[in-house]
Amino acid sequence: MSDPQCLFCKIAGGEIPAKVIYQDDDVVSFEDINPQAPVHLLVISRTHIPSLDALDEAQESTVGRVVRIAAELARSRGLAADGYRLVVNCGPGAGQTVYHLHVHLLGGRGFSWPPG
Ligand code: AMP
Ligand code: ZN
Repeated sequence: MSDPQCLFCKIAGGEIPAKVIYQDDDVVSFEDINPQAPVHLLVISRTHIPSLDALDEAQESTVGRVVRIAAELARSRGLAADGYRLVVNCGPGAGQTVYHLHVHLLGGRGFSWPPG
């Protein structure tokens, strides 16, 4: 369920402080410590899932809920009209540094395509 060595499990459990924006029984969102946009939130499940590559079918609804909460937070922050970006980095080549699956919610500026 949770990994005692995992940074984001520790944040979800309140063991390591973070600017928590939202939490419920399944999902936690907090501000990224190194923001890449005026709004940069991370949205995670309380369940420890290391990465998209480790995801199994039984966890589909958990990830669906993480994405829905991210969209709800975007709307509540007034980002929906101009648009925003959700990012999931998977593996070292994509820049994943924390191996607890997380969705980056980025907004408040324009975003180019393709991403870097
Ligand atoms: P990724 O590179 O996709 O694995 O994203 C990990 C993100 O976690 C990065 O954007 C980091 O800035 C962020 N991060 C690392 N440590 C913390 C922390 N203690 N609190 C909040 N965000 C963090
Ligand atoms: Zn974890």
